[in-house]
Amino acid sequence: FGTAAAFEEQPIKPSVQINHTQLLINGNFVDSASGKTFPTLDPRTGEVIAHVAEGDAEDVNRAVAAARKAFDEGPWPRMTAYERSRILLRAADLIEKHNDEISALESWDSGKPYEQSALAEIPLVVRLMRYYAGWADKIHGLVVPADGPHHVQVLHEPIGVAGQIIPWNFPLVMFAWKVGPALACGNAIVIKTAEQTPLSALYVARLFHEAGLPDGVLNVISGFGPTAGAALASHMDVDKLAFTGSTATGKVVLELAARSNLKPVTLELGGKSPMIILEDADIDNAVELAHFALFFNQGQCCCAGSRTFVHERIYDEFVEKSKARALRRVVGDPFRKGVEQGPQIDNEQFNKILRYIKLGKDSGASLVTGGDRLGSKGFYIQPTIFSDVQDDMVIAQDEIFGPVQTILKFNNLDEVIRRANASRYGLAAGLFTNNMDHANTLMRALKVGTIWINCFDVFDAALPFGGFKMSGQGREKGIDSLKAYLQVKSVVTALKNPAW
Ligand code: NAD
Repeated sequence: FGTAAAFEEQPIKPSVQINHTQLLINGNFVDSASGKTFPTLDPRTGEVIAHVAEGDAEDVNRAVAAARKAFDEGPWPRMTAYERSRILLRAADLIEKHNDEISALESWDSGKPYEQSALAEIPLVVRLMRYYAGWADKIHGLVVPADGPHHVQVLHEPIGVAGQIIPWNFPLVMFAWKVGPALACGNAIVIKTAEQTPLSALYVARLFHEAGLPDGVLNVISGFGPTAGAALASHMDVDKLAFTGSTATGKVVLELAARSNLKPVTLELGGKSPMIILEDADIDNAVELAHFALFFNQGQCCCAGSRTFVHERIYDEFVEKSKARALRRVVGDPFRKGVEQGPQIDNEQFNKILRYIKLGKDSGASLVTGGDRLGSKGFYIQPTIFSDVQDDMVIAQDEIFGPVQTILKFNNLDEVIRRANASRYGLAAGLFTNNMDHANTLMRALKVGTIWINCFDVFDAALPFGGFKMSGQGREKGIDSLKAYLQVKSVVTALKNPAW
């Protein structure tokens, strides 16, 4: 690990001021009702970046009341769709203008490389807001040619107050996926950010107000899951819940929603996605793509290609070359130019990943490279590879959510289809081949929500994303996400003079 020195030095100071640490309720930054705060930490050092207001049930009540009023009485659902679209476009412009500060906050709070925030993630957020701004004035219902003397219409109306709960791995991208479609449809929102990464959403929510968003339409609560998150999921006045996070928590919020007011729920949950390398593959390119599919964002991706299936004919060469690539991976301070991998998000994830690495060693998989922490400070982990991994090993079944690649061997197409599908998850899959027939077979056979062929992690605003099986329900992005934020109302009017 040639760059190990990069994080032994003093961490680079991010060039951004933290202006917002309070809750955003009804257009104002306010302290929590309890007056409590919690620290958000720098994953490079484990030291405190800032103390943030800690929202709980009482703050969620205040925020839902503000959203309710903004929806029931305020201008937002009543203004023209074109006006709403223009506010979203202005917000997108402001986010683009402040990319530097937003990216600095995002990387400071989450540990992801600054270049990844500034060149990939914030531009995706901007693109997504513009995409949904484009939808705002194109959402409309139908006139149906029903039997009988009736004029029959189907209206599409905003659903009301949307509760949204997001994770820490892509704080602002997740914020945009939730907020974009909800606002385009004319809803009001209470969003709870992840306790590890509260900063960027507060900054960006202020920009929405600068762009002209009326007070109360977008409320942001920082706080913890069992308190603020559970209060939102079980609130009787929240009309819809959208959740991204672990499968275990997804089950909890679904139950809370059912036990309270039966609000509809969309869930984006975990994954253990296969990345399948067929024998015709150009090995160097396949190694690079499989490396990216797993190690991107410190391995903290719900759709990470975390089961690398490689055809037996090219297996040994693939493992050797993957090892060389992992050893070249630039790990260090996310604010240093050229760094590919920063620290893991926090001590809990760091320890969990090290536990999985130990489990991998104990279960008989071969440790090819890595396998330990990197440096003595913060939450850095060596890029790690296991080969000779068997399907029944825990490291081949559980979501590790870290920089740990598991490489499995297969012999033929039918076998790899069966094994790839033998997972409780079904979020995504990657294929690497030039054989169109094989690609078509796999594409149809795999039980997953997204398939990338000769590419990985391509996220277009127009492309629906979500999971089969225990990876979730519903879709985000694209036109599918709008459906989750609309009510459908059928209107039947008797015709006085059916002849016309
Ligand atoms: P998590 O489920 O613990 O937390 C996610 C969010 O839920 C946080 O905001 C948290 O505060 C909140 N939460 C926790 N307990 C809650 C409760 N009892 N009631 C209501 N809210 C609660 O997940 P995590 O470990 O922070 O995030 C990583 C997980 O998220 C991984 O499993 C990953 O696969 C998944 N993820 C999925 C997607 C996707 O699109 N499918 C995207 C990103 C992350």
